[in-house]
Amino acid sequence: MDFVDRELTCVQCGSMFAFSADEQRFFRERGFINDPKRCKQCKTKTAIGRRKIETRVKCSECGIDSTVPFKPRGTRPVLCRVCFAKQSEQPQTGISLVRPADPTE
Ligand SMILES: [Zn+2]
Ligand SMILES: [Zn+2]
Repeated sequence: MDFVDRELTCVQCGSMFAFSADEQRFFRERGFINDPKRCKQCKTKTAIGRRKIETRVKCSECGIDSTVPFKPRGTRPVLCRVCFAKQSEQPQTGISLVRPADPTE
């Protein structure tokens, strides 16, 4: 069976990317039956993202831009590392940190 170059749409960024005949043959040889869903750039990004989640946030306490290693849900204040450390030193009521997953909620 001959493969022909195809254009696929990336589910992540929506741009078209080439799924070449060679790649299709490679896919088939490996036993993959589904078309690739993401372009190469997004695949790379996803691979990096899986290793480490970094979300840009503004600290609710001091207002500086910071990054947190999880996805804030936006319903609670998010603190930068400095304020987070301060908060843990002097625990206060009323401010709770956003956590990645809390099944008790
Ligand atoms: Zn993409
Ligand atoms: Zn802060």
